[in-house]
Amino acid sequence: MEKLVSLCKRRGFLFQSSEIYGGINGFWDYGPLGVELKRNVKEAWWRDMVTGHDDLSTMPGAPEPYEMTGLDCTIIMHPQVWKCSGHYDLFHDYMVDCRQSKRRYRHDQVVGRWVEAKGQIVFATAGSDSDHPEADIERNALKFFGLRTKQADQLKWDGVMVSLTTVDDFSQVLGPDAKELGTLTEPREYNLMFKTIVGALGGEENAAFLRPETAQGIFVNFKNVVDSSRVRVPFGIAQIGKSFRNEITPRNFTFRSREFEQMEIEFFCHPNSSAEWYTYWRNRRFQWYIDMGLAGDKLRLREHDPDELSHYSTGTADVEYAFPFLPAGEYGELEGIAHRGDFDLRSHMEGKLDPESNPLTLELDENGKPRHRGSGKDLTYRDDITNERYTPHVIEPSAGADRATLAFLCEAYTEDEAPDENGKMQSRVVMKLHPRIAPLKAAVFPLVKKDGMPEMAQDIYRSLKKKFNVFYDEKGAVGRRYRRQDEAGTPFCITVDGESISDGTVTIRHRDTLEQWRVKKDDVVAEIDKLVNG
Ligand code: ATP
Repeated sequence: MEKLVSLCKRRGFLFQSSEIYGGINGFWDYGPLGVELKRNVKEAWWRDMVTGHDDLSTMPGAPEPYEMTGLDCTIIMHPQVWKCSGHYDLFHDYMVDCRQSKRRYRHDQVVGRWVEAKGQIVFATAGSDSDHPEADIERNALKFFGLRTKQADQLKWDGVMVSLTTVDDFSQVLGPDAKELGTLTEPREYNLMFKTIVGALGGEENAAFLRPETAQGIFVNFKNVVDSSRVRVPFGIAQIGKSFRNEITPRNFTFRSREFEQMEIEFFCHPNSSAEWYTYWRNRRFQWYIDMGLAGDKLRLREHDPDELSHYSTGTADVEYAFPFLPAGEYGELEGIAHRGDFDLRSHMEGKLDPESNPLTLELDENGKPRHRGSGKDLTYRDDITNERYTPHVIEPSAGADRATLAFLCEAYTEDEAPDENGKMQSRVVMKLHPRIAPLKAAVFPLVKKDGMPEMAQDIYRSLKKKFNVFYDEKGAVGRRYRRQDEAGTPFCITVDGESISDGTVTIRHRDTLEQWRVKKDDVVAEIDKLVNG
């Protein structure tokens, strides 16, 4: 992972936000290569899910044909949206503060082990930012007991590493960065939504929130889309956009950021077929990651256990990837696919809330009315053929653009060998990104800067540039130029050499197989198009 992080910085995939001021935790900038990569990920998703979707055919595994359409909603929405969605009351993590180190931790992410030495039993811990929690726990315990590393055998461990959530009495807890026992506060709720004030003269009554997910913009526009676009259930609405969560412990590069982008679909269907649609979307979304280059046992689809499900969900599955920064055998979520029933549309209606299925309505105001009232608008759907009126069920595939981009980067990073210009094998770093998402599709080189080669290479560069993001490079030995493109993940390099001038052909080199073949100069654009777009 360290090698990948350093390559991302060195080659301009990712930078820490505001780096010249020391950075800001949980925020990342995409550099010149990174911005192209992430755009390509989002464009591939949008094309495969929305614009390229065939409304007329039945997709393999789908119960019937369906339509797809898009939306782009605002980041700041009416505060009532978040009350009705449940985020205002329920979107929180628990945190603990250390009175001594003044540091803050997520309660469930502090891990520790019970240990006894010198007649005292303590729960020694490590924070969630620790890369080697077992070693850090031991170091903390040794320090606390005044022991040296070689005296580690005096520590009597009791049980395996567990979360701080298993501990009731904090007086025996040695905080991750504390010197004494009992410095951690009791866990406190902490809402993850960023708050802001709307308007120059605004006070607390004008407080609003930066959206923590893009989904709600889709639900509150459900009626607008139905009324304006002639779509019929079953159909899906897709949105890509920024979301914000004030994560207590942002970590693992871009995996857990405070500002990130989501790619979400809300798929509206008849309640009777919602179980089938759930299975369809779960499989369809899993396959998408495989098609984009994540494969093998590093990628998995994990169906949630019944006790993990939200109260409204009858099925949820996560697409997960074994990121290299996670301990062996652990996976991180790339996307969640959830059967949400009619919970969201019902929550945004008024007076139609059912306390049985929607606990938000249980909270009553002083007049005995539900405290979080919906919009008062009818968000049901009437089928104009059968005349049936119902509240559609929703299947929600919710993906993170940054997590997907990070997984593609991790999967792509490869160290192998390639011959240099003298045919001698040299080690190289190559980013084996899928051609569809690679930031640059091709690079064009003149072998040397004379004999008409630069002119011919620039001609090819210009004709490719009309269709693709390509790069022209005439500086340095050609072997070095290939290596730079290998690190950038450029799948094809086109070289103009002496033979090109005499017979009008150029070589194309394949990044992964290192295979080289000659094509006519005028066929280069068609050849690259075939290679990139299939
Ligand atoms: P986690 O359990 O990892 O916090 P989540 O279950 O809260 O994630 P969802 O609310 O289901 O995540 O959000 C959908 C997707 O949005 C996630 O699968 C992930 O790809 C992305 N996402 C969520 N939180 C973050 C974050 N802090 N940074 C980057 N991406 C995120």
